[in-house]
Amino acid sequence: MSDNNEGIIVILSSPSGAGKTSLVKEISLKNNYSISISHTTRKPRANEIDGIDYFFINQEEFEKLIHKKKFLEHAKVFSNYYGSSKDVVFEKLDKGQNIIFDIDWQGTEQIKEKKLQYKIITIFILPPSRKELFNRLLNRDIEDEKNAMERMKQFDKDVVHWKNYDLVVINDDFNMCYEKIIKYINSRKNNILENYDKKEISKHVLELLK
Ligand code: 5GP
Repeated sequence: MSDNNEGIIVILSSPSGAGKTSLVKEISLKNNYSISISHTTRKPRANEIDGIDYFFINQEEFEKLIHKKKFLEHAKVFSNYYGSSKDVVFEKLDKGQNIIFDIDWQGTEQIKEKKLQYKIITIFILPPSRKELFNRLLNRDIEDEKNAMERMKQFDKDVVHWKNYDLVVINDDFNMCYEKIIKYINSRKNNILENYDKKEISKHVLELLK
C-alpha cells in the first residue's frame, strides 16, 4: 500500500458514452491529478488533439511498444488497441503526483492484478438511461451512426463489470456525480471505506439492460 509520499492511482471506467472523459478532465483540473494519456490505434475524432487526448499511432508502432514492454496495461476495445504507458506513470507517482486513468474494465483488471505498491481507487460510471446513452453517442460521433449502434451493442457486455469496482456512480447530474467521486476519493485517501448502495445500482443496471 502507498506511503504518504507516493501519488495514488484513480481509475475511471464506464461503458462508452457515460460521460467519463469529461469527469476525468474535471477531476484533473480541480484537484491537480495528472491524466494518463493513452496510446491508441483508433483514428482521431474531429475535436481530438494528438498528445493531449491520445497518442495516435498505427498498429505496427503499437505492437513495437508492446514488444518493448512499455505498457502498464493494454487492450483491444472496439477493434482498436489502447494502452497506458508505464514509465511516465511510475515516475510521476514516485514524485507524489496523483494519476487518473480513463480506461476500460480490461485495463483496470490488468492494473489490479499487478499488485502495485500504490493505492488504487477504481470507479465505474453508469449512464442515466439507455436512451440518454444513445443520444450521447450520436452527438459525439455525428458522422457515424453505425459507430453509435456498435457501441450500444458493446454496452450490454461492458456494463456487467460494475461489480468489480470500488465505487459505482450514475451520471445523471454531472456536478453531483463529480462531488460523489471526490468525496469517495478523499475518504479512501484517509483509509475510510465508504459503501455505496449496491441494491440501487443493481436495479439501475437491470433497467439499462432492458
Ligand atoms: P474512445 O475510443 O471512446 O476514446 O475509448 C473507448 C474505450 O477505450 C473507453 O472505454 C476508454 O476508457 C478506453 N480506453 C482509453 N484508453 C485506454 C487504455 O489506455 N487502456 C484501456 N484498456 N482502455 C482504454
